[in-house]
Amino acid sequence: MNLNPTIVEYFDDLKAIRRKLHTFPEIGTQTVETAAFIKSRLDEYGIGHEDIGENSVIARVEGRASGKTVAFRADIDGLEISEKNDFSHRSETCGKMHACGHDGHAATLLGLARYISTHREFDGAVLLLFQSGEEGYGGALKIIGDGLFDKYDIDYMFGYHNWPGMATGQIAVHPGPCMASEDRFDIIVTGRSGHASMPHGCIEPFAPVADIIKGAQSIIARKVPSHDRAVVSITQVHGGSAYNIIPDSVTIRGNVRTCNPGVQDMVEDSLREIIDGVSKMYGVETEFTYNRLHPVLVNQTPGIGVRAGEAVAGKGNVVTDILSAMGSEDYAFYMEKTKGCFMWIGNGEESPLLHNSRYDFNDELLLVGASLFVALIDELL
Ligand SMILES: [Zn+2]
Ligand SMILES: [Zn+2]
Repeated sequence: MNLNPTIVEYFDDLKAIRRKLHTFPEIGTQTVETAAFIKSRLDEYGIGHEDIGENSVIARVEGRASGKTVAFRADIDGLEISEKNDFSHRSETCGKMHACGHDGHAATLLGLARYISTHREFDGAVLLLFQSGEEGYGGALKIIGDGLFDKYDIDYMFGYHNWPGMATGQIAVHPGPCMASEDRFDIIVTGRSGHASMPHGCIEPFAPVADIIKGAQSIIARKVPSHDRAVVSITQVHGGSAYNIIPDSVTIRGNVRTCNPGVQDMVEDSLREIIDGVSKMYGVETEFTYNRLHPVLVNQTPGIGVRAGEAVAGKGNVVTDILSAMGSEDYAFYMEKTKGCFMWIGNGEESPLLHNSRYDFNDELLLVGASLFVALIDELL
């Protein structure tokens, strides 16, 4: 490891910040206290800031001369999980927990903020973006909708996620897709209700629902090329209320993930074809709603991430051939607008998984992450 020596001097402070953030997780875009805490630290470092999106914070720091703008993004929201850890920095709010390590991501970015407040030997500007609402609350879209790319001329953006299961401090940079898209769908199948003893007088909706569910699985088995990956999961089926009534309608809900935007289009089209076919076969009405929540996160300029990663962690400690994850990340929206990449840093091979009630962010990553950000500034500005 070739950690930045100034960042190493901040370790006790960064650890204290991270552990403080861990005690008061906030959900979605309701990160009022978290944003206030971040702003107070930026004030301490003499860095001006403004609010953006919903309870997100942005700060722009200019270097010694004009040049490109490089943005760094950390997510700051927690999750609705009851923490099972009993260490002293555990969550003080029952039912809320920093179980994805966003406390660590935010503290890392504060480490970079402190560093550039006294090290402005770069040509250009650094943007620090502390983002609320990553966990499915549209935080990135709110920031983009609030004019992020109109107000700031962003040339590159970088961010990272801690990654349980990877060795502490190991860095992964995917050469293309890094995290999957996530789409959600609703299908309402409507027939005609009636007495269970007289199905011939009804149009019963359950047989068509069964065919739709089976058909959806055949998309993965028969239509997704074997070198690509996709998941279609049926996660809810709602219908009926009694033993002796055939109901009017049944609702199916589910989730689609892929690492290839072309496959994403194919899955949506195939679901529609299956539903239309079943509708004709059984004479039922169908209503299909398909919502694209997050696009595929595609790293735009991964080579820069690899070079900076190797400068910090050493050549043997940066991997580029690791499988992309089927989890999604709203950082994907930024990669549709600018260059840059999203990296993973190992949280330890023994670390509990993300979103687990015994998870905790590995404080050693504060140094790796902040050193990596500094290395990216050295590389680009
Ligand atoms: Zn998460
Ligand atoms: Zn996360």
